[in-house]
Amino acid sequence: MSQLGTKTALDASSVEIGRQLHYIDGEFRAGADGTTFTTTNPATGAPIAECAEGTEEDVALAVAAAKRAFEDGPWPRMSAAERAGWLRRIADAIREHALDFVGLEVLDIGMPIRQMRLQADRAARNFDYFADVIVELDGRAHEVGSEFLNYSRHKSIGVAGLITPWNSPLMLASWKIAPCLAAGNTAVLKPAEWSPLTASRFAELVDDVGLPAGVFNVVHGFGERAGAALVAHPDVRLVSFTGETTTGAHIIANGAKTLTRYSFELGGKSPVVVFDDCDFERAVDGVVYQIFTLNGQRCTAGSRLLVQDSIYDDFVAAVAARARSIRVGDPFDPRTELGPLIRAEHYERVREFVAGAPGEGATLLAGGTVPEGMERGNFLNATVFGGVRADSRIFQEEVFGPVLASTRFTDEADAVRLANATRYGLAAYVWTQNGPRGHRVAHAIDSGMVWVNSQNVRDLAMPFGGSKASGIGREGGHYSFEFFCDLQSVHYALGEHRIPQLGSGGET
Ligand code: NAD
Repeated sequence: MSQLGTKTALDASSVEIGRQLHYIDGEFRAGADGTTFTTTNPATGAPIAECAEGTEEDVALAVAAAKRAFEDGPWPRMSAAERAGWLRRIADAIREHALDFVGLEVLDIGMPIRQMRLQADRAARNFDYFADVIVELDGRAHEVGSEFLNYSRHKSIGVAGLITPWNSPLMLASWKIAPCLAAGNTAVLKPAEWSPLTASRFAELVDDVGLPAGVFNVVHGFGERAGAALVAHPDVRLVSFTGETTTGAHIIANGAKTLTRYSFELGGKSPVVVFDDCDFERAVDGVVYQIFTLNGQRCTAGSRLLVQDSIYDDFVAAVAARARSIRVGDPFDPRTELGPLIRAEHYERVREFVAGAPGEGATLLAGGTVPEGMERGNFLNATVFGGVRADSRIFQEEVFGPVLASTRFTDEADAVRLANATRYGLAAYVWTQNGPRGHRVAHAIDSGMVWVNSQNVRDLAMPFGGSKASGIGREGGHYSFEFFCDLQSVHYALGEHRIPQLGSGGET
């Protein structure tokens, strides 16, 4: 049983923080120039730890170690079953130390502990899952008459740069690390500078498990320096990035010279389309859950609520009433439903969106205020706006906080038009009890993923990713291996097919 099954009490003072060093070639190291940066507690603003700040030199060392491990080490040459064994040992170790990860994550990013409890388990499942998929992964054989046998095979590629955001650090990192290593690549992880703690703990665990040196490396630091150096490094063959859309655009530009292969999971402004024939109570539950969990800092947050005219007033009133009852507080308190936003800068940005919305015609229906007595830390009450115009900022831009923008629609065509009226296309949610309409609307919305009559419940086998400005490519399930492997075609002559004899003087 995981530690979580036996122990429940955890608070900020009981979390063991550990050293925040780079992990390069199987060794924990301070940065080449010795500089550090501070990670802070979102609930109090107090410093938590000093973390090694990566430079170009640290990145170069990590990439060189990963390259050696790929070119000369055992990792890509092992059978898939052997690599799967290593992944399962990592999964077991995560489960064994689940409580450490939960404590560190809650401390570092301020997500409510009741929502973080399952994150470590989910990270462990990612390792188990990709271990299962890699041993089953097969190519295809094509018989071409009797002259050729053609077949395709999955080949590992080399050194991968894995760049992750702060909103779900361990879970999102595991989702990249597991398929990357399963495929036989080696990795350099650059975690977000606002949430370094679980990456350091994970490196300790990989070290304890005894993974061959250089197969997995961590370089902490800022995106503009360590991240940019990783992307531009000529020996990094592929980059899997999750983060903001604008950062994705920078990365493409910076990696252009090296023709790096990219997978991008970017921002979202996902619509929730509620028809008047929905199951009203379940739809209210789904809407409230999908915007206010993970402190609203969720890429697939249902942040635009589109409700059919005839039920708009009642539905939005019910959502606003629930928002007003959401318990905001200490993320370590098991009763807390909404914790602090990650960082003062981000908090200010979210509050600017809130302050600006009435000027663009929106009506504040719930929240928008700092909870009483919680002026320290980055707390904001669950916020709902009604009557939001489609051209306003809170309808168009990703707020990445507990802020819901609602508006009304007339019919199916109007709903689809509004759902598609932003540059994003990550997720969408549709609530209707009319089966054919559920499918029709899902198909008409330009998004990588759609949930009908559900909040975001994801099976690991399904492809994950966004359309339009929300991403490039898909990861998840065997789709992860379309990115993390090269598909090689082998054309094998079975007999003596005709080869034109150029220069022989005869017919060619
Ligand atoms: P961000 O883009 O600011 O940072 C993400 C990572 O990129 C960090 O590690 C950062 O250090 C690094 N980075 C920044 N500039 C870089 C550069 N020039 N070169 C290389 N690396 C660089 O994003 P964030 O604020 O950490 O995360 C929030 C964003 O992530 C939101 O937009 C959210 O929607 C998105 N997100 C998307 C998904 C998804 O699956 N689509 C999942 C989670 C979060």
